This record gives sequence, structure tokens and C-alpha cells, in this order.
Amino acid sequence: MESSVNSSTETQAKTETETGAGSEADTGAQTGAQSGPETEAAAQTEAGAEARSKAEAEAETKTTATFVFNPSRVYFEPRALEYPLGQKIYEQALSAGLPILMAGSHNRIAGLPGNTPRRRFLEAKRTLVVGVRQGTTFQTSRPSADYALPLATGCPGHCHYCYLNTNLSTKPYVRIYVNLAEILEIADKYARERAPRLTYFDGSCTSDPVAVEHWSHALRTTIEHFARSEFGRFRFVTKFAAVDPLLGLRHNGHTRIRFSVNTRTVASQFEKAVPRVSERLDAAARVASAGYPLGFHISPVIIYHGWKKEYAELLEEIRAKLPRTAPENDLRFEIVAHRFTPRAKQTILEVYPTTRLEMNESQRKWKWGQFGYGKYVYGEETYEEITRFFTENLHRLFPEATLDYVV
Ligand code: SF4
Repeated sequence: MESSVNSSTETQAKTETETGAGSEADTGAQTGAQSGPETEAAAQTEAGAEARSKAEAEAETKTTATFVFNPSRVYFEPRALEYPLGQKIYEQALSAGLPILMAGSHNRIAGLPGNTPRRRFLEAKRTLVVGVRQGTTFQTSRPSADYALPLATGCPGHCHYCYLNTNLSTKPYVRIYVNLAEILEIADKYARERAPRLTYFDGSCTSDPVAVEHWSHALRTTIEHFARSEFGRFRFVTKFAAVDPLLGLRHNGHTRIRFSVNTRTVASQFEKAVPRVSERLDAAARVASAGYPLGFHISPVIIYHGWKKEYAELLEEIRAKLPRTAPENDLRFEIVAHRFTPRAKQTILEVYPTTRLEMNESQRKWKWGQFGYGKYVYGEETYEEITRFFTENLHRLFPEATLDYVV
């Protein structure tokens, strides 16, 4: 099925989401009055927002080489400051000269600048919120893992097809949690209950944790925690390349780092404010050298004129960057075809009005998902073609690798 895609000199492309797992795991209370600080944020006037929105629009269209998340403001829940990590992040924000504000709840940040939904969305993506994660349960996260490990919520990237556009469309600000020890205790409890089976936790179901690691410090703590775990295993996927602080950690082979990659057409048209695919592949090679289990998340697979040629080129590029992998890398691939929800489509068209992302319901099949909402997916024949294509090409280029799933 190579029909249905717009073509132009800028090439062609179709549609949306990464894994269907994305859902807001944090169900913490949404109470707590927003007091003075909210007003303070609102007082960042429309004039200021105008100036920033221009800069934001430029930032959004750039594919940066060495992207790090530099928020425009940082909110703290008062309780977050009772934790050593909360204090550390506060000092970091202070020394960076960022506006510091207080919020009653990390789940409700009101009064962000911007007089249109698009501007508020862009400002929210530049807002870091430091909170205490509530709740004692995790959401399931199949097929990538058994449970979602809530290390962060929201992402500063601007991928048009992002799965977070379904669940975080009304609050896309970036949240990190200071009670990591408590979160990891819950993970240990799940792992103990399921022993002697291994229990897998995915730290990227609601965020890209590498994007915020220089603020949250969550990955290094989590990787070292799972290195000591008998029955718990950790994994996350990223589009960011700032993995060097993780390379020297004692991981004991218990953490799998996966890189989300795509063809040059998809990356150039729909992946904004994230590192280039070539940088992600360089980072993957460093991760492999550090002996981590490694994976590639090819997602979303989008069907357009010439898709097979470009996905084959992508696989060849990965092979060239990783001429060989060691047995401990246990190389794996996950393939996720594009899908979109009605809610995501509405958000995408609102905040990326010029997007070329194809979201034509009449060319898709409706399917109910595991989180109680439906989505538009490709039809059976297309799935079969995608499955056949990746099975054959992975077998040809990566005989040592495992194809975990095609969904
Ligand atoms: S990098 Fe961020 S914006 Fe892009 S798909 Fe991943 S979570 Fe979404």
C-alpha cells in the first residue's frame, strides 16, 4: 500500500504516534490552590509571550544537534522542597537564573503565558514542574514492558505525531518527580510479587527521560537501582543523544537503552527540537560500547511513496554505525506502525497547523486500545506488508538481533 500519501519535492509522509503505551501514569490529586505564583506567571504579559512565541516557533522548527532542555521557568510543589533532590533542583534553577514559581499541585499549572492554545502549548513545553508523584500503583505498559515506571511526564520535543498528544494535550508541561526512592520501592514490590519471573519496567511511557535527565537525575539512580535488582529489569526509549553520563554506570546488564529512529523523510518533516537521527545512532554506538543491552524503536512506521527504500536505508545506516554488536548488547528491534486518536489529531492540527501529517480517517481502520480509547490504525494488508518488510530486512542485515514485535 503505497497510495494515499501526499507527494511533493519535499518528499512524502504519513501520520502519527509512537507506541500506544503512552498514558498519564500519574493520577495524583489535582487539588491544591494555585496562589500568588500562578498570578506571577500570568503577569508575564502577552507582549512577552509574543516575543517568546516567535523564538519558540523558530526553536520548534529546528532540529538541534545538541539539544538540552532549557526551561523558561520552573514551578515547585512546596512538598518537593522537603526532598534533597527538590532542594538540589531548586539550587540548579536558581543558579541558572530561571524564574522560580510555586504551584499547589504538579498536575495543575494554570496561568501560563499565551493568548492562543498554540502559544500556551509552546510555553508549556518550556515549563519545568518539580513535584512529588502520588499513588502507589503503576499502569501496565504492554507490549514494551510489564509496567510503566513514572520517572517524568511530558517532553520538550516537538514531534508532530507524538503519542503524548493524546493524554497530555491539555497539560504538556514537563514534570519530574523528586520522590524517586518511593517510586522505586513500588517497583521493587511489583517485582517481588511476580518473582521468580522477571518484571520489566519502562521509564519512557509518559516522557523522554533522557531529555530531562540533567534536571531529574532519575536515570542514573534508576539504572544503578535495577543493577542490584534480582527480578526487576529497566528499559527506556529516547530520541535524545545526551547519554554520556550513563555510560560509566554499573548497570549489570539490567537496563536496556533503546533509540527511537526513523527515515529521513519522517524525521525531517515531523521530528522537531530533538537531535538528528545520525546523532542518536552515534549515541547508540556509545551505549553498545558501554555493554548495555540495546534496542531500536522504529516508530512510527509511516507509509508513503518510497517508504520501503527509505526504511531499508535507515536499517543500513544502523548497521553501518554498529558493524557488530556484542552478545551482551542482545540487540532488539520494536516496530510500531503509525496510529492516531481523534484527540491527538485535534491537538496536532491546533498546535502544528502547517503539519503534513496524514490523518485521514477514511484510509484507516478503527481499533480499541488497551487504555480504553480507540485509535485509527493502518489496515490488515498494510500491517502484513510492514511485518514482512521488517522481518526480511532485519534477518538480512541483523541476523544476531531479535524482532520483539510489530504492532
Ligand atoms: S521525543 Fe518527546 S515529543 Fe518526540 S515523540 Fe518522544 S516523547 Fe514525543
